Amino acid sequence: MPAKTVLYDPKEFLLMDGIDELERSSPTPNPFWNRPRFEVIWNLPVMSGMTKHENIKLEAMRMADRDELSIYHDRSYIETVELFGNTGAAFSSRFGLDTEECPVFQDMHKYAAYPVGTTIDAVLDVTEEQFTSALSFFGGMHHAMESRAAGFCYYNDCAVALKMYRQMNPTKKCLYLDTDVHHGDGTQNAFYLDPNVLTISLHEYSMGFFPQTGRAEEIGAGSGKGYTVNIPLPPLTDDFEYWRVFEDVVVPLWKSYKPDLVFWEVGADGHIGDPLADLMLTFDTYARLAKTVNQLVHLGNKQLVIVGGGGYNPISAAKIWTIVLSEIAGVALPPTLPDDWVELCRSFNLTMERDGWTDRPTRSDDDHQPKIRRAIDDAISVIKEKIFPIHGIAE
Ligand SMILES: [Zn+2]
Repeated sequence: MPAKTVLYDPKEFLLMDGIDELERSSPTPNPFWNRPRFEVIWNLPVMSGMTKHENIKLEAMRMADRDELSIYHDRSYIETVELFGNTGAAFSSRFGLDTEECPVFQDMHKYAAYPVGTTIDAVLDVTEEQFTSALSFFGGMHHAMESRAAGFCYYNDCAVALKMYRQMNPTKKCLYLDTDVHHGDGTQNAFYLDPNVLTISLHEYSMGFFPQTGRAEEIGAGSGKGYTVNIPLPPLTDDFEYWRVFEDVVVPLWKSYKPDLVFWEVGADGHIGDPLADLMLTFDTYARLAKTVNQLVHLGNKQLVIVGGGGYNPISAAKIWTIVLSEIAGVALPPTLPDDWVELCRSFNLTMERDGWTDRPTRSDDDHQPKIRRAIDDAISVIKEKIFPIHGIAE
């Protein structure tokens, strides 16, 4: 039986040493652009033996070229990222570059262009029907704008690949589902006027929480009105509330929209252990999400692209994406975490809070729960009032 899932191997991406240089020159490690994070994430499915399974085919990650990047990004912005990346230094702070989150470092352009080429390949691999599903752990750079870096993202692989898909398939429809804990602002902007890309973002929304957009009232404009969906979640939202809103909002919109292609940005930073965010999701919720996404895709056109995103506890992020891979490819997880992987984590001074593939289910406490519930109910009613009628969904 041929492999049905393609997974992109970051071998060449990991051979570059710009992030090592960045670490040596920075007072504190960058939460995203650091070697332990990439190595720990990639090596979990490899050391688990899953990447050798016949259901999974490995393909190499690939850098996007300038022409591909310019499908979405501004040429002068691309040239600046390339120039600064060649010298490893910024001449001035332009385009959101040279900040704490988006530092200028050696080979920055290449590091940013690899996820884009790879996500383009992922879309082509599933739409040309070589595979049912394609996964790239190191894509999902959903904050990058047309000519601006933000939130660790320089080039937006989601926007570039989906713009390309739209050019190649003018009448087809894509569902962009973003479950990263941060609002998918860059991708939303790219398709705000386009009814052929339905963007749905579930994210934490609170005072001071990046990027401060993604209110339920942001619903798209022009012919794209009703095709941008935002589900803002208060801090401490738990599995139960998360699942309630998924079933109340995402599932009916998905079923009525009937997308040709499903593109899922699954940041791992909604997990309870994430140091940069405040939701309380557990590994089981990610498994359930993957199972549900897979089922809905198989009821429809059977084309699924999955990219990673945020996730700043490398051990949790590695587990989450390995769990997603296991569900999508139908390859069992090993009963215990591989010893050599646990050793790898130790060598990077990363401590394992809990062995295995699950964690305790959590509920937000009784004081917070009514407030959380109310905030989520408010968002659901805005969406049901403003968006559901456009899709002909009766409420
Ligand atoms: Zn994020």
